[in-house]
Amino acid sequence: MAADDILERFRKLRTWGSNGRRAPHKPLLALWAIGRCLAGQRRMAPFALVDRELARLLHTFGPRRKTTHTEVPFWRLHNDGVWQLDNPSVVTTTPSGDAHKSKLIDNNVRGGLLEDDYVAFQANPKIAWDVADMLIDAHFPQNYRDDILRATGLVSHTGELQRLGERGTEIRDERVEYELARRRKRHPAFRGAVLSAYSDQCAVCGLDIRLADAPIAVEAAHIHWFKDAGPSNVCNGLALCVLHHRLFDRGAFTVVADFRVIVAAQVDGTGFHDALGGFDRKRLRILPVRADLRPDRRHLSWHAKEVFRDPDAIRA
Ligand SMILES: [Zn+2]
Repeated sequence: MAADDILERFRKLRTWGSNGRRAPHKPLLALWAIGRCLAGQRRMAPFALVDRELARLLHTFGPRRKTTHTEVPFWRLHNDGVWQLDNPSVVTTTPSGDAHKSKLIDNNVRGGLLEDDYVAFQANPKIAWDVADMLIDAHFPQNYRDDILRATGLVSHTGELQRLGERGTEIRDERVEYELARRRKRHPAFRGAVLSAYSDQCAVCGLDIRLADAPIAVEAAHIHWFKDAGPSNVCNGLALCVLHHRLFDRGAFTVVADFRVIVAAQVDGTGFHDALGGFDRKRLRILPVRADLRPDRRHLSWHAKEVFRDPDAIRA
């Protein structure tokens, strides 16, 4: 089976998010299944297992929602031509065509990658990495990549491909090449414009560590994710140090319309106060002088709704 054909089918996954609402359910399910494949686990998995594992992934990488519908991607993914269900005819569906969760569990319905794809991924892991990267690229900022690869078992905790086998060294070299190729990339104009609007300093903490006069620890973050069609304009950007960029992308804090930082109540740990807690409810330390370059409230409100982990903290 041609690698391009596989990639194309995964690229076309129909997600049901609309109006800027994130729905990473299908991509996360596909990534989890690919991780299992590369780890040499069984192709078909019972819904009860998928339910548990996908809920865990959605909790970590998905938007905050009142209920987690793992049954929807499990059921709908097979319409995308990348997923197979066994025994689906025993399951009753809702008026919108979705499976009842209890029926999936009671009937022990199993789902998994198509056999041909599963075999192709095992024979040539590079195809699997390409699909995984494409899915992550399409639905998440860069900051999520390593954590998602680990959480879905696509790389081990040491960063190496899970199933090396007798082709170990060869695959490891390929993996290094693959990583290098990825890094020749992206958004140089946006980065330059955002950094200069913020005088190369982190908007939150003011950090501007330089090496030979070049800023090395401050990055341009998209507020409304580029992956979600957020524009590469300075008013959709924040200059953030690597730590605050990561914390912002993961929803540990957000910024509200009056440019105050709001920290999620769930964040904790050694160094928390100095690194983040101390900035809670304070105004950003650095802002562009020109008002039209400052963060736009529509983009800030997208981040607060779709990424920030603690919406209650905004109202408090
Ligand atoms: Zn910072």
